[in-house]
Amino acid sequence: MTTFAEINPDQIRTDCRFYTGYKPCHKHDGCPDCSKFESRGSQSLLVAGGETPLPWLREEAATQRGEGAGWIVAIVPQQAIPPRPQWADIGIDEFQPLDSGGAMAILGRVFTSHRIQDSTLPDDLLVQHCIDRCRGVIPRPENPAIAGRVLIIKLGAMGDVLRTKVILPEIKRHHPEWKITWLTEPPSLPLLDDDRIDEALAWSSESLQHVLARGYERVYCLDKDAHAVSLSREVHARERYGFKPTAHNTAVTWNREANYALRLGLSDELKFHENTKSAPEVIAEACALPYDGKPYRLRVAPLVRGRVAPRLQAIRRGMDGDRRLIGLNTGCGPVFATKAWPLDRMKEFVRLVMKRRDRDLLLLGGPRERHIHQELMKVAGEQDASQPTIHDGGTDNTLQDFFVLVEGCDVVASADSLAMHVAVALGVPVVSWFGSTCHQEIDLYGNGEKLVTDFPCSPCYLKECPKEVFCLSELTARDVLDSIDRVLDPGLFS
Ligand code: SF4
Ligand code: SF4
Repeated sequence: MTTFAEINPDQIRTDCRFYTGYKPCHKHDGCPDCSKFESRGSQSLLVAGGETPLPWLREEAATQRGEGAGWIVAIVPQQAIPPRPQWADIGIDEFQPLDSGGAMAILGRVFTSHRIQDSTLPDDLLVQHCIDRCRGVIPRPENPAIAGRVLIIKLGAMGDVLRTKVILPEIKRHHPEWKITWLTEPPSLPLLDDDRIDEALAWSSESLQHVLARGYERVYCLDKDAHAVSLSREVHARERYGFKPTAHNTAVTWNREANYALRLGLSDELKFHENTKSAPEVIAEACALPYDGKPYRLRVAPLVRGRVAPRLQAIRRGMDGDRRLIGLNTGCGPVFATKAWPLDRMKEFVRLVMKRRDRDLLLLGGPRERHIHQELMKVAGEQDASQPTIHDGGTDNTLQDFFVLVEGCDVVASADSLAMHVAVALGVPVVSWFGSTCHQEIDLYGNGEKLVTDFPCSPCYLKECPKEVFCLSELTARDVLDSIDRVLDPGLFS
């Protein structure tokens, strides 16, 4: 059997309703010889602009299904998209938001029927024009001049956006005169404040019009979402790399070098057990660019540094002698909460650090970690309020303020999350722990240590842990502090 670990994209049955392009098929581990194939059949589109479109969608979906529709796409306001487990019950195969992302996600797809709920849709809505391969959706020249421009489409997640910057030096080395435009999601814009990027744009209908009005030497699409791959086809470009859309705007590849990146997403066997390449290496390969093994970079704006520095200086003033500042990243993104170190372990860690005369601790987190910071500061207060060596970095910092706090630490201890990538990009030593995710995809570039759990179920990429014993509960405060000591004072352990 040819598995997804070995497959060529042209062997994938992209018209199968179970092919998503970005995660393993839950029916079978490879398309050739698969008996579970189910055709998507003809596609039908339902567009609803109201706040409560579900009853209408349910009724329409049943009608469309009765008339032979195989795959039903619903476009509704973002806030009205129900959780995925409910989609089948409503009779919808795919939801897209009623905005420029949803419009792009369905662009170029052939719908044999469509229904629009009402006339309350926004005036500038592109969706109504996207039916039956209409290309009149966004006004743009047929063949704009291609004049030394590159477009990078990498929308999220933030850590992925940051490490995708590994491709910049190679592009610039060969074509220093080319202008680089990077399209991303709004939260990632601060990551792209970089002298090698000429234009960082947040996804919006205005940005799309701007991007589509131009021609590019190259387009690099490193995202597999339907709207990203669709855009990679729609822009005028001489060369295209990375992920391209199928007839259903799921992802396959533009170039054979990107096949490995695609297969990593389709095969757990390959991703979890066989792969030895780091994510930056895979990204460079997907772009058909050499990987120089050097870390991605992050720029901290001097103005922001000036704004945040007094807080760090106040902490440093109280740190006499050889005390070193440990940044403890207290959370992780919401998608894989299993990456986070349990609160009890962090409390232990606070107690342990407070016993040391040579270590201070700065808590690094975001709004989701407010409660965790309160708990940890409570532990610190109970322990010894007279000697504050545990500092709360706050949970309402801007992303750029957060960069400065990370930069001000002597070492950062973190889950496999954005704070870890930020520390790597700023050259701050890192101690990072791995349970549910793949440590081999992370390159610390020789500036830190990875603590990898040896559970047989690891990695799992589960959102919730079903086991009685959680892998990261086994990672003790002593493990983390010992690792920090080794990273900060390697001479003592050699
Ligand atoms: S492996 Fe999955 S995607 Fe491929 S044909 Fe079988 S069911 Fe469809
Ligand atoms: S214990 Fe196993 S299943 Fe649970 S999060 Fe860790 S690796 Fe995943």
